[in-house]
Amino acid sequence: MPELPEVEAVVRTLHPLVQGQRIRCVHVLHPIAVKPQPLSRLADLARNRRIQRADRKGKYVLLRLDRGLVTLHFKLDGRLVWFSNARELRERANAQENGVHVDVAFELEKGVLGFSDRRHFGRVYAWDRFEDSSGLASLGIDALSRDFKAARFREMLAGSKRPLKDFLMDQTRVAGLGNIYSGESLWHARLDPRRRAKSLEPEEARRLHKAIVSVLARALECCLHPAPDFRDSQWWFQGLEKILRVYGREGEPCRRCDGTIQRIEQGGRSTYFCRRCQK
Ligand SMILES: [Zn+2]
Repeated sequence: MPELPEVEAVVRTLHPLVQGQRIRCVHVLHPIAVKPQPLSRLADLARNRRIQRADRKGKYVLLRLDRGLVTLHFKLDGRLVWFSNARELRERANAQENGVHVDVAFELEKGVLGFSDRRHFGRVYAWDRFEDSSGLASLGIDALSRDFKAARFREMLAGSKRPLKDFLMDQTRVAGLGNIYSGESLWHARLDPRRRAKSLEPEEARRLHKAIVSVLARALECCLHPAPDFRDSQWWFQGLEKILRVYGREGEPCRRCDGTIQRIEQGGRSTYFCRRCQK
């Protein structure tokens, strides 16, 4: 599942492609991608609007229009694809040969932006205003933004009894941390994911904040080199496994001590950690 660094890399690559372009037409090829909004809603809102910029909030990609906005959420497997023109879209979208799975396509003045999710969990929605989207409005502080400050983070931790891992995954507190990077941050901060958020000493909270910032910065760097290629529908981020220290390493030795990485279930998801050096 794309997490915040992946989505940020997508947005930075997308912005120069779409900025200032008018949306000529919207094709909803698989209506499930816009549900539960009415089928015509997206086209009604976006047609003939100009894209002012591509933006991000948490794991949402935003197309900010001269009136209203479109949100794209990748969920497990969604991605963006790019076509040179409407003809290429017609020939290749969901075609048998040389086909590309496309759920929704925005025909722009120069090129066509497609949203693709074979598993159909991803969604594309249209909104008149930012606040109308309950998903967007409920998001907490964006972990890659300047608003994510150590002092504020410490206060938030102090107000929660939840285990650290669950706390970090809660998008209404800190937006953008998913399963992988919350686990990685806890390893770097040498903190046990099962500890209650409010039990952290000020020094530990600072350590965790610093770990989150540096884990995300390193992951973003990796996601931008090479940058996403929307022309290649098979493209996906490379090399992220090189920066991972605990994720997916059950039974392997800890990279810091002689401990063994363990896997436990937290909130229905796998957490990887080292019982020996994460306290
Ligand atoms: Zn260890």
